[in-house]
Amino acid sequence: MSDTKIDLDQLLWGENPTGAKKIGLFFGTFNPIHVGHLILANYIVSATSLDEVWFVVTPHNPHKKKASLLDDHHRLAMVKEAIEDNIHLRASDVEFGLPQPNYTTNTLAHLREKYPEKAFVLIMGEDNLRSFHKWKNYEEILKHHKIVVYPRVHVASEDSTSEVVASLDAHEQIIKCDAPIMNISATFIRDAIKNGQDVRYMLTDPVFKYVDEMNFYR
Ligand code: ATP
Repeated sequence: MSDTKIDLDQLLWGENPTGAKKIGLFFGTFNPIHVGHLILANYIVSATSLDEVWFVVTPHNPHKKKASLLDDHHRLAMVKEAIEDNIHLRASDVEFGLPQPNYTTNTLAHLREKYPEKAFVLIMGEDNLRSFHKWKNYEEILKHHKIVVYPRVHVASEDSTSEVVASLDAHEQIIKCDAPIMNISATFIRDAIKNGQDVRYMLTDPVFKYVDEMNFYR
């Protein structure tokens, strides 16, 4: 066990680790899921005593039609294919059944009610932490959940000096962790496919085949 694992666990669960099954939640559109997401999630699940990380696939928002966003079932299917051989990673379609537009606070309330025996922790990039105070009911989220924050390269500096952001930085529910970060995004991959470039290795083989055979993003 590395020092990182011990330190992170101490921060997450303290001296009295909960007996609950510990689940990390990684929210995203996953359009498509790529190696940046996978390396990060697998690192976090293996560097902590989280039992699992769930990739929570955000469904289409009917009020914000985005042409480049693939149908929900395709994005979910790609997540499932990408993590098929990893028992610690799971795909979640929990948001597909919730009223739209949906907010993270509602999803978390739903998960707490559905799985009272599990402890849910959010996994968030540093970039998202900068705007977390604008999320609906963010204080309520912090009351119930810890947040593991990983570094991102492009962090907007605009908000970073505000008091509320500074207080979140030091919040006891927020735990910063180190993680290997790849400078890659789904947007980059979609653009590359559109330009006829080869995106092998940016996606797992099954996801690459799925995208290729379905002619997505061209
Ligand atoms: P897009 O380019 O379409 O916005 P994305 O690659 O950022 O997509 P999302 O599905 O929006 O992917 O990502 C889900 C979560 O993963 C987001 O919180 C996002 O910040 C984070 N994320 C995206 N790319 C990476 C990466 N390379 N490493 C770590 N986290 C990432």
